[in-house]
Amino acid sequence: MTAFVFNEPNFDDHEQVVFVSEAKSGLKAIIAVHNTNLGPAMGGCRMWNYLNEGAAINDVLRLSRGMTYKNAVAGLPIGGGKSVIIGNPKTDKTPQLFEALGEALQRLGGRYVTAEDVGTSPADMADVAKQTKFVAGLGASGDPSPFTALGCFVGAQAAVKYQLKRDSMEGLVAAVQGLGHVGYDYARRLHAAGAKLIVADIDAAVVERARAEFGAQVVSVEEIYDAEADIYAPCALGATLNPQTLTRIKAKIIAGGANNQLATADIGDQLRAKGVLYVPDFVINAGGIIKVCYEYLNKPESEVEAHVRQIGGTLMEVFERAAKEGLSTSVVADRVAEARFKR
Ligand code: NAD
Repeated sequence: MTAFVFNEPNFDDHEQVVFVSEAKSGLKAIIAVHNTNLGPAMGGCRMWNYLNEGAAINDVLRLSRGMTYKNAVAGLPIGGGKSVIIGNPKTDKTPQLFEALGEALQRLGGRYVTAEDVGTSPADMADVAKQTKFVAGLGASGDPSPFTALGCFVGAQAAVKYQLKRDSMEGLVAAVQGLGHVGYDYARRLHAAGAKLIVADIDAAVVERARAEFGAQVVSVEEIYDAEADIYAPCALGATLNPQTLTRIKAKIIAGGANNQLATADIGDQLRAKGVLYVPDFVINAGGIIKVCYEYLNKPESEVEAHVRQIGGTLMEVFERAAKEGLSTSVVADRVAEARFKR
């Protein structure tokens, strides 16, 4: 029989993995607490129609471990965790489902704090909150995505300074893939800083808006990889940095908000060998979790922006250390995180 949990590559010393089943609501969920050395584990709750339980386990462990690294490198006093609900977010949602999840979180006593993620919304989190206080991102002070976009912009500025020895974005070309909550706001900042935009999205209305508002050149979702650009900004899907796209991307900087951009870890080394500066995704896209964490810990909202802007300094250290040690930026970012959370 295949062992799914301990043998998973992403199990990586998870402190706790809890399987939750509640008959009345039909809840089937997995809560993964990767590491709490820096504080309670925080990470969103994803609802997805997983092909099978193995896929759900794989996903929750991978995401949970990723949150430990993201939260640590962002300098937050929280650990990493994640939860997944197995089900179709379009057809299977009920308030009872999320209340049952809330009860499970309550039993964990605060070791894990949830928030919205793919397939869940602030309204769902409000149902979780009926049963527990260990929930963040209730939308009390709005969508965190603009802070993710700010972090991306600050990260791109650091990359431009390091890689192109320039203090300004004026005249640079940025190819933005995906103009959603993060991508559109990031594009707005790039445009305001004087960059020219090439954009692609599956949503025709949003690219039209970018054309009208920013004078962006619109290309197809396939052509974006071939764009003659200085910066490639993946803000839609994961794994867009893969053997097929590596030969096509011309930008010398990759700086975008999407999660899990590297299809496999060795792509980081290949980018380095090609002289491309890859800005590690979990460092540059931490603005949203910084915002959610401040809200949960009742820290002043006025201090969020300054914290997000620190992403620029952290990245400079990552770039410099990677060059000095002859390593990829993604490996160095992992090491920075590990130095913070590993005891
Ligand atoms: P979103 O759903 O609002 O936006 C995604 C956009 O990408 C949509 O406009 C969609 O139409 C477009 N898209 C989908 N497939 C595409 C394709 N093949 N080519 C081009 N465009 C495509 O999501 P978001 O909140 O903006 O998040 C974007 C990425 O950033 C995701 O990977 C997400 O996990 C990551 N992220 C988001 C946040 C946040 O604060 N929202 C924080 C950290 C990481």
